[in-house]
Amino acid sequence: MPDKGVGTRLFLGLRDPVAELISKRLDCLKCPSLCCKMTGCVEVSRADIRRLAKFLELTVPAFEAKHIVARPRGARKLIKAIDKTCQFLSPNRRCTVYRARPNDCRGYNCWDHADELYDYARFIQMPVEDVRKLERRETASELEENEKERARRRRQRQREAARA
Ligand code: SF4
Ligand code: SF4
Repeated sequence: MPDKGVGTRLFLGLRDPVAELISKRLDCLKCPSLCCKMTGCVEVSRADIRRLAKFLELTVPAFEAKHIVARPRGARKLIKAIDKTCQFLSPNRRCTVYRARPNDCRGYNCWDHADELYDYARFIQMPVEDVRKLERRETASELEENEKERARRRRQRQREAARA
């Protein structure tokens, strides 16, 4: 995750054409910090906890009491629960513990993960003219489908008329 931190139908239609339209790597400064707000959880190791506690000038027990949000059985403790906004994300979308952030967050790039988060982030960063291009493609494809359906029904009516 970085130091800072839309029509559904269109978004779902992006998977193929978008790859042609924008580069794979995204600009985190142009993103509403989706990775700190959505998707998975953030686990912390003992070293992460010690580093964060020191950064926040807390003892380890005080840090855990205040900032651990879940302790899943058999897994590491969490500072961010699944699909929840991280408690350390500021209103202006900055990570307030950036220098001490957990290893889970260091080096995280959504473009290295083939999931919906990356699709959303790509969509948000698409130039408007590319979004319009996709809309036109989608409209053209819908018109073509409608025309095919009308032709199919016409043929069916002609067959029924011929049998009658
Ligand atoms: S979701 Fe992707 S583009 Fe957005 S801040 Fe996170 S890594 Fe950067
Ligand atoms: S600690 Fe929270 S706000 Fe900071 S990078 Fe990780 S998920 Fe984002």
